[in-house]
Amino acid sequence: MTVIVRFAPSPTGKIHVGNVRAALWNWLFARSRGGKFILRIDDTDQERSTKENEDRIRADLLWLGLNWDETFSQSSRFADYEQVSAALRAKGLLYPCYETAEDLERKRRLQRTRGLPPVYDRAALALSDAQKKAFEAEGRRPHWRFKLSQRPVKWHDLIRGETVVDTASVSDPVLIREDGMYLYTLPSCIDDIDAKITHVIRGEDHVTNAGVQIEIMKAVIDVRGAGKLPEFAHHSLLIGADGLGLSKRLGSLSIEQMREDGLEPAAITSLLAKLGTAEPVAPQPDIMALAQSFDFEKVGRAPARFDEADLLALNAKILHQLPYSALEERLAALGVTEALWEAVKGNVTKLADAADWKAVAYGAIDPVIEDQEFAAQAAALVPDDPLSEQSWGAFVERVKQKTGTKGKALFHPLRLALTGREKGPEMAALFPLIGAARARARLKGERA
Ligand code: GLU
Repeated sequence: MTVIVRFAPSPTGKIHVGNVRAALWNWLFARSRGGKFILRIDDTDQERSTKENEDRIRADLLWLGLNWDETFSQSSRFADYEQVSAALRAKGLLYPCYETAEDLERKRRLQRTRGLPPVYDRAALALSDAQKKAFEAEGRRPHWRFKLSQRPVKWHDLIRGETVVDTASVSDPVLIREDGMYLYTLPSCIDDIDAKITHVIRGEDHVTNAGVQIEIMKAVIDVRGAGKLPEFAHHSLLIGADGLGLSKRLGSLSIEQMREDGLEPAAITSLLAKLGTAEPVAPQPDIMALAQSFDFEKVGRAPARFDEADLLALNAKILHQLPYSALEERLAALGVTEALWEAVKGNVTKLADAADWKAVAYGAIDPVIEDQEFAAQAAALVPDDPLSEQSWGAFVERVKQKTGTKGKALFHPLRLALTGREKGPEMAALFPLIGAARARARLKGERA
């Protein structure tokens, strides 16, 4: 069996760490099985969907390395949705309802006061043709509900194991609104069957939907005369480091924001691939290697904790691991040379931090001088250019001899004077980049 999966974002907003995890897992699963990854744009809601959001989603996915083999938008498939819904109407599986939003709210209130679950009472099924005509004559347009079996639907979820949704406990879903707009459910079921999707991988907020969708998919297979139910894998949702859900903060956790913040795509994919699995999170610049180790067997059911601090730590490790050639273009844009990068890469969290060290190496900084006499003595001992990796050791040795200081008392004031900072890259690597003239000037307390 060829694996065919889909990621199906609605272009009503940006993608963020929460929903991109589903994209990544679909992609990893497809790639691990030599399968197909389809990007489907769920844009039946034409009021809230925008081309701009769609373009952004595509750009974000490509930036992460999640390329697709096929893509289509639901808005190109209305003829198919019309065809299937006509057949479902003919079978009595899609029925017209004329309640207004207020009518439905009133019914739910009544159910609540009686301690009943707020499930739609199917009153519309009892409407006579004459009553329907009367509503139509009043100018009312129907919305259309799918008639569920009201029996338990069971499936073996690849993450959750045996799963049951009793469709007697859910309302018959509205598939088409009174203005004719298709809600996501029916188009999704038709597309999944027509595109021969083998696995639906998504967040567990869709578990109840799955029960309903399995019934609708069966009806679609019947109408189409062919097709097969996909398997399902519903993963747990992410929570924040504080243990709370991420929903309120998702705006700041968008992939676009992370890209603008200068994070590496590999840091994001390394983290999201392993969060919630039995495997440790580790920096993995090669996304195909993540695919090779992907397996639903390793995925747990507990909510996975997303901590931005982990993401930053991974980002630093990824940068450390990547060869200069992989970063050359971006570093060149920052004016950072290979020598400088090699000297400072152990001290950067984000690539752009290298530009700060560039300023330390070549720009003008305010040196921090704690002991003027000591610094002046050191200034006189700076060897002449060109400085090499060995120059630092020789220089420090001379300062030690001359001033009688050693250990931290020796190194710390030199670093403060030469870099203006408490901490940083190995001075042996930085010293030749700073050069003799700037080193002397800084040790004399001059801005250089
Ligand atoms: N457009 C739906 C969503 O974003 C897709 C859900 C699914 O994967 O079926 O929630």
